[in-house]
Amino acid sequence: MIKLASVGEELDVFIVKAFLVATFLLVIGDAISTFLYHVPEHVFGKFHSLVHHGKNRSFVHYAVLTRNPLVLLDGFLGALPYFIFVPWLWNISPLGTIIGLILGELHVVWRHVSIIKWKTPKQVKLLCKLLFITTPERHCLHHKNANLAYGDIFTFYDYPARLWLKFLVFLKVKYKQTMTTKQT
Ligand SMILES: [Zn+2]
Ligand SMILES: [Zn+2]
Repeated sequence: MIKLASVGEELDVFIVKAFLVATFLLVIGDAISTFLYHVPEHVFGKFHSLVHHGKNRSFVHYAVLTRNPLVLLDGFLGALPYFIFVPWLWNISPLGTIIGLILGELHVVWRHVSIIKWKTPKQVKLLCKLLFITTPERHCLHHKNANLAYGDIFTFYDYPARLWLKFLVFLKVKYKQTMTTKQT
């Protein structure tokens, strides 16, 4: 009986660890990706806007099935933050790390299904709202207007990301002003 109880406890710890590691990987990965890549890229870069917000985009592009190296590079840079912590998280829970990466990848595909006229069922929408998860409909808003709906996976990054965007735009404008006054 004692042995069975300890096996049960070990299993509980195993599951909790996997759950926490998977959640941490997605939360931290989305934070780094949003604040250090996605938002700065909208302000200072052309690359993400061109690839991700371009007019001639298709679902296939987003599913990273394309051979266009620019699209693959954008996908790679966007996905890199999720891999930074893998060696450390792997030590805590390999299963949680794998689940986190798979869920992250599945979410990339899912949030781009709007292009094939997908409609998220009401119950799923409600669940996403409760868990602060970005739905394809919400992510579609970001594609249409780059000032809206930040947070690729989690909606709670939207507000701080938009503040960050404003601040970086302000810096860019200030920098340009100083450069032009220096030239004249
Ligand atoms: Zn997108
Ligand atoms: Zn964007």
